[in-house]
Amino acid sequence: MSHVFPRHSRKTPPKVSHGDGPFLFDQSGKAYFDGSGGAAVSCLGHSDPAVIQAIKDQIDAVAFAHTGFFTSEPAETLSEALVKAAPGNLDRVYLVSGGSEAMESALKLARQYAIEKGEPARRHIIARRQSYHGNTLGALATGGNMWRREPFAPMLMDTHHIAPCYAYRGQQDGETEFDYGQRVANELETKIAELGAENVLAFVAEPVVGATSGAVPPVEGYFKRIREICDTHGVLLILDEVMCGMGRTGSLFAYEQEGITPDICAVAKGLGAGYQPIGAMLCTAEIFDTIRDGSGFFQHGHTYNGHPTAAAAALAVLNRLTTDGVAQNVAPMGAKLRTALKDRFGQHAHIGDIRGRGLFIGLEMVADRETKTPFDPALQLHAKVKAAAFDAGLICYPMGGTVDGKQGNHILLAPPFIMEDAHISLIVDALDAALTESL
Ligand code: PLP
Repeated sequence: MSHVFPRHSRKTPPKVSHGDGPFLFDQSGKAYFDGSGGAAVSCLGHSDPAVIQAIKDQIDAVAFAHTGFFTSEPAETLSEALVKAAPGNLDRVYLVSGGSEAMESALKLARQYAIEKGEPARRHIIARRQSYHGNTLGALATGGNMWRREPFAPMLMDTHHIAPCYAYRGQQDGETEFDYGQRVANELETKIAELGAENVLAFVAEPVVGATSGAVPPVEGYFKRIREICDTHGVLLILDEVMCGMGRTGSLFAYEQEGITPDICAVAKGLGAGYQPIGAMLCTAEIFDTIRDGSGFFQHGHTYNGHPTAAAAALAVLNRLTTDGVAQNVAPMGAKLRTALKDRFGQHAHIGDIRGRGLFIGLEMVADRETKTPFDPALQLHAKVKAAAFDAGLICYPMGGTVDGKQGNHILLAPPFIMEDAHISLIVDALDAALTESL
């Protein structure tokens, strides 16, 4: 009998045996193409020799040293490399163990910065509906996925949610994409006015929305308007690139494509590519210096901050993505995969939208293409598609998100950047089989 506490307590998944490139194998020898990199994690596949060697070398030297006593070469070099790679003025890197920790750190850094800057009234967080920022209580409170929040709602801080930028569902007849983006961005200004600008701490958003809506990119001009509103009212812009960052959308940081820079940015998943658990929060010198010249102490921390082995793995990942050019495969391969998906499912009766950026692709399942009516959540279609695809040898990431407060369904694809042309038909055929079986 197993003593593991799985999330699905009545299901026993197969035991994984080993990985090879973009494939995972279970103990029976069955191969699975990792079409979602787990949950948009494994951007380099499962057997990258350079990353594995970097981990071995670091463990041979020292696996762990607490940041209360030491810094380390990999943490220093990784931070420098991330700052160099990040466009704009992000200047300091706070290394943590994953995405939720990065987001918790971002929220608490924002609050401490406001206090030390002499603006202690700033405490309200504004985020968007249909977003996900992590599962710890602060990050969960920030996210707008009502299904995830519901049981814990009485324990969550009071966050304010405005409309997401989700053109497929929100753009009105006769409205241009640009006008739609401006309209929903302006909801931020309305909310700030309602709360009193002097009380608002930060606006939080995923540049390309992942788990809750399925790779929804912003429309042009949306984030420029958001940046403008934040600047006007002294509100910090926190971007959550935990899922969409590290090359996933075709640029190392997704915000690059919006022509803006955040004040704080969180990355995780692709940062360690699954070889080690690691996340990072990047912030501007202005924020860091205010605390350095004030209390001199960030009143927040985790035991595994700056973990040397995790940092060594992430540094090797970053080198593979940038110096070795692996991330350059993302845009062209993503375009080919999206075209193949549109060719096969573009007219499918129950696929309403195929969208995304780079190798971050979403297919939205609908009961009716014309009316965009979501399926009844009780059907648990996302779970059925996930199981059928898994049987067919494809790992994909279908989720029941929320559409207007109800549960909708989408399939998220986030394959390793090392995938090749030959894998495209494998993904499309397995997905076709899974949809035929489930819908
Ligand atoms: N933020 C976003 C956008 C995510 O997609 C996730 C995880 O899916 C998180 C935060 C939380 O990251 P983690 O699961 O590593 O705690």
